[in-house]
Amino acid sequence: MRIYNTLSRKKEDFVPINQGKIKMYCCGPTVYNYFHIGNARPFLFFDVVRRYFEYLGNEVIYVMNITDIDDKLIDQSLREKKSVQEISQKYIKAFYEDTKALCIKPAVFHPKATEYIGKMIKFIKELENKGFAYEKDGDVYFSVEEFKEYGKLSHRKIEDLKVGARVKANLNKKNPADFTLWKKAKAGEPEWGSPWGKGRPGWHTECVVMSQDLLGESFDIHGGGMDLQFPHHENEIAQAEALSGKPMVNYWMHNGFLNINGEKMSKSLDNFFITRDILKEYEPETIRFFFLSKHYRSPIDFNDGLMEESRNAMANFYNSLTNISFLDFWKDDIEYSPEILEFEKKFKDSMNDDFNTAKSIATLFELNKIIRNENKYSLKIRKQAAMMMTKLGRVLGFFENIDSLIKAETDHLSGDLINLLIEYRNDFKVDKNWKMADKIRNDLKKIGIELIDKKDEVVWKKIL
Ligand SMILES: [Zn+2]
Repeated sequence: MRIYNTLSRKKEDFVPINQGKIKMYCCGPTVYNYFHIGNARPFLFFDVVRRYFEYLGNEVIYVMNITDIDDKLIDQSLREKKSVQEISQKYIKAFYEDTKALCIKPAVFHPKATEYIGKMIKFIKELENKGFAYEKDGDVYFSVEEFKEYGKLSHRKIEDLKVGARVKANLNKKNPADFTLWKKAKAGEPEWGSPWGKGRPGWHTECVVMSQDLLGESFDIHGGGMDLQFPHHENEIAQAEALSGKPMVNYWMHNGFLNINGEKMSKSLDNFFITRDILKEYEPETIRFFFLSKHYRSPIDFNDGLMEESRNAMANFYNSLTNISFLDFWKDDIEYSPEILEFEKKFKDSMNDDFNTAKSIATLFELNKIIRNENKYSLKIRKQAAMMMTKLGRVLGFFENIDSLIKAETDHLSGDLINLLIEYRNDFKVDKNWKMADKIRNDLKKIGIELIDKKDEVVWKKIL
């Protein structure tokens, strides 16, 4: 498997630290609002990374933090006239609801920043003791000049890092590029006691402490949106590696931006969409298809045309799966014929090439063609294609609802009984007893089972 590593700016062979056990971290939500459709991209994409590793037989320890203390939460609490805690509780709940609606599996750990304050203080103190951090007026800063490799992720040099024109230079900092580890609390703000007085940790420290606590000093993959490369991830590396002297992360993965109708999403352009609202208009799988139909590092444009295309593609898949009525055939240990197995190999080749989901979706389309081509392929091969399409689609988080259909339909007793009735009906037909044959069909229909007469067999399905 090859993964594009932001550190080296090229695709590298993926070698996990421990074979069979992947440790990965993705920056999670700051819970001051509903997450927008741009935030949904990393949540959804790294869910697929995790699913693919699991599909390959790995155990995946996947961590996604929840930032529940931050300036943005404090501002929002003033706007909504609620406590910071009420704000975080409200939007944590919404985060779980909306990710679940998108068929995103919960991470193995969702640590909250406020549960780690003690460990963060200890971490900052250690940085201070070793000369990487200094205190000034109750704030603590990281001294970028003390970490020789500062800038290695974003490929920037300290000398080039100028304080933006809009930001008033902070005279307490030794170097304008120094960043805050601990922030002194203003009156009325949430605060925790520390060796430097009352305050709260900075965001960059939160992610380092939580990821290293749960995954160790070095782990395999750290993900997030491209906009987090600098300063957030650069600052995570500086703190972690200053203390441990080891690489914090072996593979840094960043997803590209999302635009809306060709423009950057912004509140002022009135094109700011929260995922919750998009979910009212489009099915979760349509949204998943939309994101996964482009390579994760490419920019993606959210527009009605693309969303309609995604919707049609999913409808097309479902249509094929429903029509072939393969669910009676479902088994986990099915033996596929070589021509169907070939598609699994193709799918893996695409995914192994830096998670090329766009190409792996093309494989689903090829399987779909087989399912629909009655003239060229036997029913057996077409059913196998349907099974394979479902199996591979699930790696991308599609076809989750088919699960319940399968469970219901493979209920052994009722399945066997229906097949028995189909056999009796066939016998009646051989005897030209059409009255009894029709009675069986009609009576089954009354209890919600439809028999479909095909060329060489009779199949049944539940009437939904
Ligand atoms: Zn982070």
